[in-house]
Amino acid sequence: MTEKVFRYIEEHESEYVQLLKEMVELESYTPDVDDVSALADFIKKFAESRGLNVFVKEFEKAGNGLLITMNEQASMLPVAFTGHLDTVHPRGTFKEPVCRTEDGKMYGPGTVDMKGGLVIGLLIMSALKDCGYISRPVRFIMIPDEELSEGLSLEEGKDFIRNNARGCAAAITLEGGDGKSITVGRKGSIRYKVYIKGRATHAGSAYAQGISAIKEAAHKILAIEAPSDQAQITYNCGMIKGGTSPNTVPGEAMFTLYNRYWKLEQRQIIRDHVEGIIAKSYIEGTESSFDIVGERLPMDATEDNYALAAHISFVSEKYGFGPLEPKLKSSGSDASYTTMAGAPSVCSVGPSGGRAHSPEEFVNLESITKRAKMLSAAIIELPENFGAK
Ligand SMILES: [Zn+2]
Repeated sequence: MTEKVFRYIEEHESEYVQLLKEMVELESYTPDVDDVSALADFIKKFAESRGLNVFVKEFEKAGNGLLITMNEQASMLPVAFTGHLDTVHPRGTFKEPVCRTEDGKMYGPGTVDMKGGLVIGLLIMSALKDCGYISRPVRFIMIPDEELSEGLSLEEGKDFIRNNARGCAAAITLEGGDGKSITVGRKGSIRYKVYIKGRATHAGSAYAQGISAIKEAAHKILAIEAPSDQAQITYNCGMIKGGTSPNTVPGEAMFTLYNRYWKLEQRQIIRDHVEGIIAKSYIEGTESSFDIVGERLPMDATEDNYALAAHISFVSEKYGFGPLEPKLKSSGSDASYTTMAGAPSVCSVGPSGGRAHSPEEFVNLESITKRAKMLSAAIIELPENFGAK
């Protein structure tokens, strides 16, 4: 079966490179929900043309998501892929032509993050289907707003991932990777906006009556960031605004706060620390409030995740793609939600490339078929009771 699938993948390489080009040209910046839905519709038509089943998930404020399935009646535990349809690039970020290929690299919005990964999953499913693989259900969960941490689809989006990953033998998130490592854990984050009110007065004649919101912000930021530790929790004030003129005591200030952490139990430590400092006034007379503007829970580095990574690495080495080292990463992904659903989960096994989130973003085209082969072999050769609880 594995050899047959490899042949299918080789024979269809150019077709899937073309598919990737068309998907990149359908720009899908997260807030442009109609664009995201147009890409979902394009993928739906493609998947259906390959005999796969497609369910369209509509969200109130986000573009459409997709659930692509095959073999749903099979008796062994399912395998799920996850990926996202959106990119971080507003239309117009990339000069025409939006997508171009040079020296085996394809440049364009979302090439490596993560339309290349979407194409790998589609190629694997088509190959398995055509080669007669019927042992397990295989599904692909596609989310419309991962780049905003599901900030538009909200709990419904996260539930869409969790519900479809629950009970799976393996959940594989196809974010880009380097081909040498495999992500088994990721940090979580809570994003805050903090607002401070003081009293604006003339900084010369009425200095004593002024209450500086900026000075209060400075105290708070230093206190909040003080315990930052790269190995545990980090706090970062990335933006600050305040005041109206050089000779006015600033009556208002605002700053943003981002943090990263590893373990679910650290979430409460962060909230207590940050919100305790926000509640306290360093400068008498100031008042502070906050909003939580986004949140991503961590991907816990479970034993199951390590076991799945070890299996994929074993198969990868067996077929000449080299071993993959399990790694913990600082950035977030939807693999947090598949892990929370109890499925053995890994991330960063999609294509290699670089400059994600920049106008020079690219994917190495040869990595598309390599990863498609590696992962289809990992699915075909997944031990029968793997992931059974
Ligand atoms: Zn991504």
